[in-house]
Amino acid sequence: MNWFPLFCDLRHKAVLLVGGGDVAERKARLLLKAGADLRVCATRFSSPFYEWQQAGKLTLLETRFAPEQIDGCWLVIAATDSKEVNQYVSDSAEARRVFCNVVDAPAQASAIMPSVVDRSPLLIAISSSGDAPVMARLLREKIEALLPQHLGKVAAWSGSLRPRVKTTFNGTGQRRRFWEKLFQHDRLAQTLANGDQHRAEKLTEALFQQPLAEHGEVVLVGAGPGDAGLMTLKGLQQIQQADVVVYDRLVSDEVMELVRRDAERIFVGKRAGYHCVPQESINQILLEQAKLGKRVVRLKGGDPFIFGRGAEELEALTDSGIPFSVVPGITAASGCSAYSGIPLTHRDYAQSVRLVTGHVQKEGSLDWQNLAAEKQTLVFYMGLTQAPEIERQLLAHGMSGEMPVALVENGTSTRQQVFSGRLDGLASLAAQAQSPSLIIVGRVAALRDRLRWF
Ligand code: SAH
Repeated sequence: MNWFPLFCDLRHKAVLLVGGGDVAERKARLLLKAGADLRVCATRFSSPFYEWQQAGKLTLLETRFAPEQIDGCWLVIAATDSKEVNQYVSDSAEARRVFCNVVDAPAQASAIMPSVVDRSPLLIAISSSGDAPVMARLLREKIEALLPQHLGKVAAWSGSLRPRVKTTFNGTGQRRRFWEKLFQHDRLAQTLANGDQHRAEKLTEALFQQPLAEHGEVVLVGAGPGDAGLMTLKGLQQIQQADVVVYDRLVSDEVMELVRRDAERIFVGKRAGYHCVPQESINQILLEQAKLGKRVVRLKGGDPFIFGRGAEELEALTDSGIPFSVVPGITAASGCSAYSGIPLTHRDYAQSVRLVTGHVQKEGSLDWQNLAAEKQTLVFYMGLTQAPEIERQLLAHGMSGEMPVALVENGTSTRQQVFSGRLDGLASLAAQAQSPSLIIVGRVAALRDRLRWF
């Protein structure tokens, strides 16, 4: 650790900023936010500096830098566009034993400024020790996206509740559960953000009065079709908070990487053809784990309510009064469509799209007549083994043999493969593909020639 992370109180403390351009302006904004007594030295200033001075927020020293300006300061920032001047400022600060940050040049500096996620009083600072500032910035963006906007308000609020929570609840387990409820209360954060103190007090009182549930809960989360980037922020938050994650074959390794490290993982893999764990047992696992008081995430490929048997699993919970919620996911049809360059609707070719299960129980159970109609796109899930039957029925019901089709295998993942052809060749295309694969039938499939990008 070459740099010691430290949060320091700059309120009303003299800080010298050298430079008056855009870069200095960004630093000035941060320092003003931190309440510093800011003096800015430069021969020219961008306009915000004059506005700040007029508003009495800082002092401008319209002159060249001189080492004496550092006297009495707690911190110096060199933000000019001259390497030599910055070095001079840095050396002068070093001689006076005052920490100095040099913008974009950690080698010249004795202090570096991290990327900051500000949910005051909650602060997250990220630094790559100057080696990879862009990486630090990207990480910051990710964390920004993960943390609800008003989290800080709730953090400040919780500070005032600590003594009461301590006397009301016995044991750390109970307290933790109370805090979790408080921190995840959507309306409380919004109410605090709106400055509605009265309502915030009412919501908090209700939380204190509510008995702490001894049982856990189940969250059904859609993991998307493969590429972990396609998961929703809500889904990501859920797998990061889970005690147990129950998942199956369609959830990609990439997504599993994002699960909270300490969470227990239960694999209940299912694949077409055979079921590793019968549905009844999966329902049972969810129930048992929730009854142990755990936060259970049932993670499913794609969207849990599209050919995911998500509803059945929830129904089993309702009888036992286990609370649950559902986070949607990007279904295979959307993911495969985007990553194969095949739009599912198109003004000229398809006015509707139908998601169809290829897992046809008995012959004739699908409405082939309607499926064979023009101007629509058909997307078959679980259709690989039934491809010859799909081909036969659609042809028999009048669809043209030259209708474009595409088979998307492992859509959205780096192993994605797309097989394009015509309806009368669907069965032989399917013979080349592996599970999981999606079959797209319709004029739109031909657009891939021009729209493929992945
Ligand atoms: N709930 C899921 C679908 C589960 S049914 C969803 O919304 O996507 C399983 C079928 O989905 C597979 O047989 C296959 O047809 C399709 N599928 C799921 N992931 C896929 C992927 N990455 N590429 C292609 N097809 C996929």
